[in-house]
Amino acid sequence: MAVSHQDVSLQDVSLQDVSHQDVCGQAYSELAVGQWLPEGRGKVTDALRKGELTADVVVIGGGITGAGIAREAARRGLKTVLVERQDFAWGTSSRSSKMVHGGLRYMASGDIKTTLHSVHERERLMREAPGLVDRMDYMMAHYRGQFPGPLLFNLLLFVYDTFAGKRYRKFVYRDELIKAAPGIKTDSLMGGTCFSDAVTDDSRLVLRVLHEAMADGALCLNYMGVQGLIQEHETERVTGVNLCDGLRGEAFTLQAGVVINATGAWADELRGQLGAEHKIRPARGSHIVIPRERLPVKHSFTVLHPDDQRPIFIYPWESRTVIGTTDLDNGGIRNTEVGITAEELAYLLKVTQYQFPGANVVRGDVISSWAGVRPLVSSGAKNPSKEKRDHSIWEDNGLISVSGGKLTTFRLIALDVLQHASKYLNHYPQQTFDETVFNPSPLPTSGDYGLSDEQLKRLYGFYGAAMKDVAGSEADNTLINGTLTMWSELRWAARNEAVMHLDDLLLRRTRLGLLLADGGLVDDESSEAISAVCCQELGWSESRWQ
Ligand code: FAD
Repeated sequence: MAVSHQDVSLQDVSLQDVSHQDVCGQAYSELAVGQWLPEGRGKVTDALRKGELTADVVVIGGGITGAGIAREAARRGLKTVLVERQDFAWGTSSRSSKMVHGGLRYMASGDIKTTLHSVHERERLMREAPGLVDRMDYMMAHYRGQFPGPLLFNLLLFVYDTFAGKRYRKFVYRDELIKAAPGIKTDSLMGGTCFSDAVTDDSRLVLRVLHEAMADGALCLNYMGVQGLIQEHETERVTGVNLCDGLRGEAFTLQAGVVINATGAWADELRGQLGAEHKIRPARGSHIVIPRERLPVKHSFTVLHPDDQRPIFIYPWESRTVIGTTDLDNGGIRNTEVGITAEELAYLLKVTQYQFPGANVVRGDVISSWAGVRPLVSSGAKNPSKEKRDHSIWEDNGLISVSGGKLTTFRLIALDVLQHASKYLNHYPQQTFDETVFNPSPLPTSGDYGLSDEQLKRLYGFYGAAMKDVAGSEADNTLINGTLTMWSELRWAARNEAVMHLDDLLLRRTRLGLLLADGGLVDDESSEAISAVCCQELGWSESRWQ
């Protein structure tokens, strides 16, 4: 049983041509086209029913880790099937703090390697996907007598900036800071240090990576759960999976060269079926969303909570202000929604009041909240915040499991996992490890579709080459109720992105459910318009909508 982490030095494996044809001659690449349309899913499930599909790689879990692995496997010509028992990004990957960051606090706790890799990946993603992964300015306000002071903080940032080969850090004087952050606590305020990391829309990141995987022939199915592992009789090696279609209840089997368990916080469920020791310590983190007008921050403020000195972020996201995260043992994990508790809400409001007393943010300001479960790999530390954040890989009877890690380092995690998986594959066509995650697509021209440069950049980042289908010709590019999301995005996602349930559309293809009061479904006008999109694009009846 091997445990490893982020070293990506893949062994030399001979380069061989792998065809996309499966044993029965059905082309993966043919099935891959249009697979997220209803008839496309039908073709894939038909092939499964007839036993016409075998895979080189089956990836279990449609979060960022599974998506990254599918993307890297498919580009190497491996027949790749990814299955997710809920919706894509339903797990932790739509519930993170949405920061693509080096993790200053990991560096402060001595985890230099995680920070170095993360900073490199951050810079890379900002270059590759502007509009999806963008620079965000962070701010640490300094108060007389408070740790860390500006000098020490600057020293930490010197190293952080050196990793990136950039100089982002700068000191901001007291008056300038007060102007930039209305309502901030001013007693003993000396000024602040501004530095830089990046922010994303986590579920759109997962979806874009999945689109890239599918473009290279991967088959990616949501609402398709793995119920059991198939093992070879004599060796007990895992050679396939038993699947259950969550929409129709139909069962399938799928044989594979290698099975990869990328189920994050749920990783022990499948490992447990093989009798493996449990490794995951599920830790819940919750965030709250408030209207931007109530606390119009321009930076992501890092605030040490007065109760326990844990860093909390108060930051702008999607034209709202977000506050989070908490970090608590979740006491196990189930296949159901997790939610914020009253104590967590009070904890987040307290830190907001502490840093921004002039804003007086109260419970009634909260539009929404989200909670996610972090797959920490347990070392037995007393406090979940003290557990390491890098990923681990285990191998049990040929099942490769990966858990832990970060959104930010998904590409490195994928390469590390495939290195472990390669010994089970007849062919592992190694490519260079510097290829871009996102295939370059033509940059929009200023003024295209009558949109501002900011809007075009966002569309480019969220949809890549598909942006012309999203926003072109007849599309309604007006914004939905004070969000940055356009009606055309909602419609395009409903039509093209394997939407099965309303929450797929409102919580993960778009984030309207988090950004609009009452999930966007109470205000009559927006609710009616969303209903019209669902009925037209998804063929839902009025009673289904109700
Ligand atoms: P998941 O996204 O949870 O995906 C696993 C999937 O497997 C789930 O969708 C689940 O439904 C599916 N699954 C489970 N069992 C089965 C089965 N039997 N069959 C099929 N599918 C199955 N990282 C950062 O880089 N930046 C941040 O700002 C950041 N903030 C965070 C804040 C919080 C509160 C939390 C909790 C985490 C944060 N992280 C952050 C970490 C990051 O979000 C996670 O490391 C990452 O999302 C994990 O992705 P994953 O794909 O491994 O797991």
